[in-house]
Amino acid sequence: YHPSFCPRNLTKVVKHRWKIHKFGGSSLADAACFRRVGNLLLGYSDVCLGVVVSAMGGMTDALINLAVLAERDDRRYSDELDAIGERYSTTARSLLGGANLVTLLDEWGRDADDIRNVLQAIALVKSAPQRSRDVVAGYGEIWSARLLAAFLQSESPERGGTRIDTRKIITVRQTELGPSVLWDESQARFNENVPDDLTGIAVVTGFIASDEDDLQTTLGRNGSDFSAAIFAALSGASELTIWSDVDGVMSADPRQVPEAQVIDRLTYSEAMELAYFGANVLHPQTLGPAVDNEIPVVIRNSHNAGHPGSRIGATAEQVENIKGITAIGGMAPVSYTHLTLPT
Ligand code: ADP
Ligand code: ASP
Ligand code: MG
Repeated sequence: YHPSFCPRNLTKVVKHRWKIHKFGGSSLADAACFRRVGNLLLGYSDVCLGVVVSAMGGMTDALINLAVLAERDDRRYSDELDAIGERYSTTARSLLGGANLVTLLDEWGRDADDIRNVLQAIALVKSAPQRSRDVVAGYGEIWSARLLAAFLQSESPERGGTRIDTRKIITVRQTELGPSVLWDESQARFNENVPDDLTGIAVVTGFIASDEDDLQTTLGRNGSDFSAAIFAALSGASELTIWSDVDGVMSADPRQVPEAQVIDRLTYSEAMELAYFGANVLHPQTLGPAVDNEIPVVIRNSHNAGHPGSRIGATAEQVENIKGITAIGGMAPVSYTHLTLPT
């Protein structure tokens, strides 16, 4: 990681006015999850909360699969899109009622028409350009943000209801090494689009952004953590909390090692190392903007909010032993001593 990616103190905004919370798909799997997250947020009395949301768990995979089916001219994409709509509307019906629900479902219907048109075009040419894939893949975050904002507004009209679309703010250049944030542009767009005196809970789309041509792009799979860190930097936030389905960063992947323990405190570089080498509780690029702007990052469990989680900052207690072990699957070591190299 190179620190010049994100110049320090780039915000004109009042420092430490915002606190940012990010909820991944594992925290937004169904109506009960949305309700839990909404109530958790309403329990905070901070003046200004930015809440970055991912798509509902599995939603991005389902959306990407639509484009894959369309590319093969497999018209089952239509049934799959209906199934996505069924899941979303069932969730929405348990959370909202009246005009709010009608508006939300109407918006979904218009999006579904647009998605169907994109899929038809893909099916005709049997090829899905990256831009079409990005547009389809990004709907999950738009739908989560609309639903959570509507739920918060119905529960607390004074605090809830604001939405921020990151396509109007986060601008990136796509490079071979992944998206690189255009900080000056993004900051100017943040300053232009987000009022200085905003209060309450603003729901922010994760994962999606704009490219240099102002067309929709994404920050890559699992990229909502990175969206949250970028938004934290742009807003001059005092803290970033990433909520997931584990109690914090653990000494190993708990799916592989059930005995894994939560690590209470980590330095930025320790956490970065774990993230780069396979601990997918944190997207590897997330900590860059946090380091540069000295924003502490906390990893917590939305299903077990009583647990304090893991705190990542500039310092942590020194320990003699190893804090964590990670693994990247699907790899095999190749020893060159066994290879016959061409002369
Ligand atoms: P979200 O949908 O909230 O973004 P992810 O599925 O992306 O959540 O990340 C959380 C998952 O990361 C956990 O359920 C866990 O299985 C996995 N994971 C892998 N390595 C670690 C680790 N070292 N510590 C914690 N979780 C880990
Ligand atoms: N929804 C996106 C994905 O599944 C981004 C994220 O969840 O972080 O990759
Ligand atoms: Mg994730």
